[in-house]
Amino acid sequence: MLIIDDHGNTYLIKGDADFHTKYGFLTAVQLQNAKIGDVLSANTGRKFHVLSPNVTDFVQKAKRGPQAMTLKDLSLIAGFSGLHSGSRVLEAGTGSGVLSIFLANIIAPEKLISYEIRDDFAEIARKNFQKFGITNIEVKSKDIYQGIDERDLDLVSLDLAEPWLAVPHAKIALKVGGYLSSYSPSITQSKKLVDALGDDYQHETFETLKREWKMDAVRPHTQMLGHTGFLTIARLLKK
Ligand code: SAH
Repeated sequence: MLIIDDHGNTYLIKGDADFHTKYGFLTAVQLQNAKIGDVLSANTGRKFHVLSPNVTDFVQKAKRGPQAMTLKDLSLIAGFSGLHSGSRVLEAGTGSGVLSIFLANIIAPEKLISYEIRDDFAEIARKNFQKFGITNIEVKSKDIYQGIDERDLDLVSLDLAEPWLAVPHAKIALKVGGYLSSYSPSITQSKKLVDALGDDYQHETFETLKREWKMDAVRPHTQMLGHTGFLTIARLLKK
């Protein structure tokens, strides 16, 4: 269950034991009897709402090994590539599995295939999938630069250092009209990727900036996450 207070602090918990926060604790009995929508009082009087967690909570609470993506980037990849239940998707690399969780949630009951070359990262990802009860992801120990086994894909999603090396394989694996997305921290990587796409794709490359506002003062927050990555979204026009 998800426990959330009025200050935006969130906790994803099993609810089978006493739960301590720095704002007070909730007892196992309170948690075991709690239903979605209940408001629980901690020993300090602090109120906690009981909610059902969803994928946005999972991606924010996932254990992170290699650099994982943020929600704004995940959302844009899914949105700009038109994903829906049943879409056929392959991604590389898995990393901590944060993007995997987000994509798998959308395409279910279809299974997401995810390639990863490092077994230690694949293990972190598998633990995240297990923790959140996500079963429609298969992590393959494979180097995408060597080829893609799958065919008729709606999306090949890349988050790795040399995405241009996967472009020849993506063309074989994608449906005409399918998408290739690539997320890179450096524009030099995006440029090399786009050069490799040639004229087979219609594509765009953009930054994703999320500037939050302080609504009590009605002005932007002083601080923001200034840079995560550049996204290239490309749609295959011909084989
Ligand atoms: N999108 C992931 C983070 C990916 S980090 C997340 O949201 O959690 C990049 C990952 O790509 C690393 O784990 C790295 O080991 C893997 N990788 C690098 N080159 C690869 C290749 N050629 N094939 C498959 N995986 C690769």
